[in-house]
Parts: sequence; C-alpha cells; structure tokens
Amino acid sequence: MDSINLNGIQIAAYVFASILFILSLGGLSSQESAKRGVFYGIIGMALAILATVAGKEVHGHIYILAAIAIASVIGILLARKVEMTSMPQLVAILHSFVGLAAVLVGFGSYLDPKTAKLESTEHTIHLVEVFIGVFIGAITFTGSIVAWGKLEGKIMSKPLLYPGRHIVNIVLLVACIVLGVFFTMAGGTDGMMFLYAMTGIACFIGIMLVMAIGGADMPVVVSMLNSYSGWAASAAGFMLGNDLLIVTGALVGSSGAILSIIMCEAMNRSFFSVILGGFGDVSSAGPAVAMEGEVTALNHEEVADLLKEAKSVVIVPGYGMAVAKAQYPIFDMVQTLRKAGKKVRFAIHPVAGRLPGHMNVLLAEANVPYDIVLEMDEINEDLPETDVVMVIGANDVVNPGAQDDPSSPIFGMPVIEAWKAEKVIVMKRSMSVGYAGVENPLFYKPNTEMLYGDAKVSVEKIMSFLKA
Ligand code: NDP
Repeated sequence: MDSINLNGIQIAAYVFASILFILSLGGLSSQESAKRGVFYGIIGMALAILATVAGKEVHGHIYILAAIAIASVIGILLARKVEMTSMPQLVAILHSFVGLAAVLVGFGSYLDPKTAKLESTEHTIHLVEVFIGVFIGAITFTGSIVAWGKLEGKIMSKPLLYPGRHIVNIVLLVACIVLGVFFTMAGGTDGMMFLYAMTGIACFIGIMLVMAIGGADMPVVVSMLNSYSGWAASAAGFMLGNDLLIVTGALVGSSGAILSIIMCEAMNRSFFSVILGGFGDVSSAGPAVAMEGEVTALNHEEVADLLKEAKSVVIVPGYGMAVAKAQYPIFDMVQTLRKAGKKVRFAIHPVAGRLPGHMNVLLAEANVPYDIVLEMDEINEDLPETDVVMVIGANDVVNPGAQDDPSSPIFGMPVIEAWKAEKVIVMKRSMSVGYAGVENPLFYKPNTEMLYGDAKVSVEKIMSFLKA
C-alpha cells in the first residue's frame, strides 16, 4: 500500500475514533447509557492507537508493542486491585501521567533535529507550542500528585494559605512569560535552560495551587485537573502534529471544564476562585461555632421499630457507605420497607463520596432502580414531610453549618437538609469528622439519633429486627 493510501486510512480512522470519543462522552452523561459510553471509548482508543502505530512515520514497532503490553498488564492489575473508594486517587495519579507525558513530549520535540529545519515563523510557532505544552503539563503533573496526596490522606486536606500567595503566583507567572520570550529567541537548543527554569516554576505553581484548596473543594480540583490533563494532551498533539490527540485532548479539556463549572454551581463556589487556588476566597473567617445540644444514640432494634412506624423514609448515603460496601444490604432493606408499603427514596448530594457520581455508581451496582434515586434539589423540599431520614456514612453533605455558620469552611455549600425531617438517624462508627474536617451540628439536634457501627453491619442487624 502506498503512503497516500496509508495516510488516507489513518485520517479516516482518526475521524472515526473522534466520533467514537464524542459518542462515548454522550453515553457517559447518564447512568443507563454509561456502559455503552465506556465501550465506545475503548473501541475509539484501540482504533486510535492502531492507526497511530501503523502510521508511516512510526518506527521501532517492536518497542512500542512491548511498551503497550507491559503498560496494559500494569493497568489491568492496578484497575483490578484498586478499591472503589480509592478511585479518585487513581484518577488523580493518571492525570499526573498525562501531565508528565506532555512535559516529556515537549522536551523531546524541542530536541528533535527535524524541528530545527522548520521555516522561521513555523519554528517560532513550534517553540511557543512546546513552551505552553510543557507549562500546562508541569502544572498538571505536580498539581495531580498533590491532589493524590490529599485524597490518600498523605497530605493534610486543610488549605495551605500564606499571606501574599496570589502576588507570588502572579510574579511566577510573569517570570514564565519572560522566560518564554527568551526561549523563543534563543537559537538551536540554547533555550534549554529557559525551558528547565520554566518547568521548575510551573511544577511549583502546580503544587501551590492545589495545596491552597481546602478538603471540601477537592471534587472541583479533581475535575479541574481532568480538564488540565486534556489541555496538556492537546498541547502534546500540537507538538507532535497529531490531529487526533489535539481533538481528544480538547474533548477531555472542555468536558472537564464543563464538569468543574457544574460542580462549582452545585457547591456554590466561584469557578475562578477554585482554579486560581482559592483566589478571593473569604469563607472560613472567624472562630468556629461551638456545638450546642446533646448527642443521643439508639440501638438497632429501636431503629427497626422507628422504620416500622414510618410511612416515608429517605436514605442519604455518603462516603462511609462506599467504605462499608453497604449498598447491597441497604437495597435489601429498601425492598423490605417498600414491600411493607413505605415510600423509600435515596437523596444524592453532588459531592457525596469521593468522585462525581460515586453514590450513583454504587447504587446502580446494587441494582437500585433509578426512579427512587433523587438529586439533592429534587428531594430537599420533601424532607419536612418525611418521617425518617437515614444518613448512612454521610457527614459533610448533611452539615447544617454550611447554611448557618459563616466560620465553616463549607459555608455556602448547598446540603441535604436532613434535620428538617421528623427523625434523623445518623449511622457511622464514631463522632469523627468527614473529609472537610468540620464538626457537624446535625448530630446535636434534638430530632437526631446516632447509630454507631460499621454501616453494613448496622443495616444487616436492622434487617434482622425488621424481619423478626
Ligand atoms: P464525609 O467524608 O463527609 O463523611 C463520611 C463519613 O463516613 C465519616 O464521617 C465517617 O465517620 C463515616 N464512615 C467511614 N467509614 C464508615 C463505615 N465503614 N461505616 C459507617 N460510616 C463510615 O462524606 P460525605 O459523602 O458526606 O461527603 C463527601 C466529602 O468528600 C465532601 O466534603 C466532599 O467535598 C469531599 N470530596 C468529594 C469528592 C467527590 O467528587 N464526590 C472528591 C473529593 C472530596 P466515622 O469515621 O465516624 O465512621
């Protein structure tokens, strides 16, 4: 086959892969079509890799295939081993790989003797692509590692704020622009030292931007880094002259940005404040409000009795449900209650768990029908007419302090107003705080009762009393 045909086939394959990626994103937008979306994504990616590796400009196939085989084995082993509760960490670390790849592609592309032969304007454009690609890649690389550390609990989730940090960031940004000018003006590979210096600064900016974000805003940071990784891949596409990488990167970059905006709206946060490392953030001012009231607890039999008497029950799942893998017994309990004629529904907060859609995925895994799984906005107005709200392993997403304590780091975030129900049962193992690290006044409300213990064990015990 001659090179023109090969090129034509490659372009056709790239167009087809792009369409599959768009279909994949469309599929992932709802639970019913999510599996189909993932399938389209796999086929699209396989096609993209095949078409790229078969390209006439690619040599050393044996090494490429060996690298793909080794990486695939590592990927499969990791994906099988990772717990659902650790998915956000895995996602964060994968974002860091994309950032690192963009940095390496940038350096490789700069040193590539072929690029030195480009015409002067084309060469300058190429140098700008390299510089911007390495800059975005380096921020994504270190920012994602810090995000991984915060999600894994290796780095404190409290924001690291120091006076004048925005000025420092702006000065560093200006320094990068100046280095960029020197870099594009340097002849041959003399610009290497400017590239090194900018990479170091960008790595530092990435660390500081994510360090400045508090625990409660981490969901937005994860989706924002997802967006950055897309733009880093797109920049790598420009450097390599690969159209598919440009398109795919832009798809990831823009969908990640849209998701970040949606999450910011859901959490009542300013998008720019979060992406600029808490710029202009005035919340969490003043001393924390002391908890008032008494904490009371029930046993499993008493909870079962309350449920037997209730006509309407709302379940608010959170990260603890994921830890306990309690979704299966919870659905058994829901079925038992529904058979007894009770109205039972789930209330899902947009940032419950540790991943966007975390709770929805777990409930879908346990075959919970979609029509009883409601979003926070859909359920909040029904809560004053609800007999029992069962908060299962959730904490921050039901914290009333988000509405009435301006000193709280989560002040302003919309929450599920569990306390408005007649009775609230909070199921967790202790009085410890949630991810945002703040006390929860809900536990001290007169209509709240604690039920201590692992969520799965507790639900199973309640079931034994419900069946008795
Ligand atoms: P939280 O982290 O606020 O609280 C979870 C609670 O679950 C803890 O207080 C813990 O209490 C309890 N728990 C843990 N293990 C068990 C168990 N085995 N059985 C019963 N309870 C258990 O979770 P929420 O879902 O309420 O809120 C999510 C938080 O995570 C928010 O702050 C959000 O901003 C943040 N976040 C969300 C992301 C997302 O994309 N969704 C990403 C990153 C962060 P105890 O130890 O006493 O049992």
